[in-house]
Amino acid sequence: MKPTRRSWAEPFKIKVVEHVRLTTPEQRLRAITQAGYNTFLLRSEDVYIDLLTDSGTNAMSDWQWAGMMLGDEAYAGSRNFYHLEETVRRFYGYRYVIPTHQGRGAEHILSKILIKPGDVIPGNMYFTTTRLHQELAGGTFHDVIIDEAHDPENEHPFKGNVDLDKLEALIRRYGPERIPYVSIGATVNMAGGQPISLENLRAVRALTARHGIRIVLDGTRVAENAYFIQQREPGQAGRSVADIVKEICSLTDACTMSAKKDALVNIGGFLAVNDETIYEEARNLVVVYEGLHTYGGLAGRDMEAVARGIEESVQDDHIRARVGQVLYLGNKMRDWGIPIVVPIGGHGVFLDARRFLPHIPQEHYPAQALTAAIYLDSGVRGMERGIVSAGRDKDTGQEHKPRLELVRLAIPRRVYTQAHMDVVAESVLAVYEQRDKIRGLRMVYEPRYLRFFQARFEPL
Ligand SMILES: *Cc1c(COP(=O)(O)O)cnc(C)c1O
Repeated sequence: MKPTRRSWAEPFKIKVVEHVRLTTPEQRLRAITQAGYNTFLLRSEDVYIDLLTDSGTNAMSDWQWAGMMLGDEAYAGSRNFYHLEETVRRFYGYRYVIPTHQGRGAEHILSKILIKPGDVIPGNMYFTTTRLHQELAGGTFHDVIIDEAHDPENEHPFKGNVDLDKLEALIRRYGPERIPYVSIGATVNMAGGQPISLENLRAVRALTARHGIRIVLDGTRVAENAYFIQQREPGQAGRSVADIVKEICSLTDACTMSAKKDALVNIGGFLAVNDETIYEEARNLVVVYEGLHTYGGLAGRDMEAVARGIEESVQDDHIRARVGQVLYLGNKMRDWGIPIVVPIGGHGVFLDARRFLPHIPQEHYPAQALTAAIYLDSGVRGMERGIVSAGRDKDTGQEHKPRLELVRLAIPRRVYTQAHMDVVAESVLAVYEQRDKIRGLRMVYEPRYLRFFQARFEPL
């Protein structure tokens, strides 16, 4: 059959390859049993297509690798730090930059500076490490995302939006003095990689400005968010992704960044702020927890790779191919009737375990069980994003029971081909056709913090 439209392809070609290993069903059963049915505890050698995370799993370009050779490994004042600082100013627009080993390093420092015990931090859905650092600093996170975000079947184009009524009610209830900042994720990872609109962010800015409350951006996937704005928001189609990224940042006061995602590196992050007083404090604290303020736990070469990665990450052709691959996988599964979160997000496809496995109650960890079942079928590794990830209430100790009970298949940037995506979709379909046979799990080991990383399970 002749094509009805012209195809497009990735704006790069492959120069180096890494071999992956196919395993047998027996090998996979042994591996997942040893891993306590937790895909975080598998050895990567036992994985065929690794969609555990898009964090630090990106393929760097030859230009980034060339930059690695230009690492200035001086303890203080590395040339690569100044390049990173200049790049952050140019593409994001923040005045001051403090490198950190990864995103949570920046979250730790900023939470310690801005949050006092008893404070309240509103945000457009929680993220695991972000909320934990807010809580360890004595604060309490409050979700102010729109209700649509908690409904995997709702097609709202900006499910990352803040519900302004919820935010205003919170400000009225606690008073602006107990709200150090509003925490804005772009895109929202836990909602399925869903974007916030410029219109909504501008409205959040106007509301918080009236009360003198700051906005802190989680800029981890801000380029993907900007792409969705360009594609979906009225009046934005003619702008470049780079231009939209800069506007998003300009509507916020500070940003914590895990460079391991959109910024196309394997390790790194930073904190960026406009306020000089906060900067002074952060510059001092980073020495305690990460390293001197001109390296923050990173090698010079890593800072160079981040600087170059940021520049590549906001190019329109790059981001179209990146999100395009995610859409390709998601649309395929959707066409086959597999229940996924819609609209399809920026960094991965999220399976709706509630609809996939309606016979397993949430207490028996359906998304965890589904993640293990997919691994057993094909060696494709995903991650649970449901009740296990949500953890326990810090005051009552009860399990949080999120409405979203998901399996995330996160796509590393520039790593896999369209044929890999086909294999993944076919494996999920095979599991879907056998879904009645999947049983729930019992948790047999539970760590105190961020339990999803190291918890162990057994089949019921
Ligand atoms: C990964 C991530 C973080 C934490 O970053 P790390 O580099 O893993 O420490 C924070 N926020 C979001 C939205 C993330 O996806």
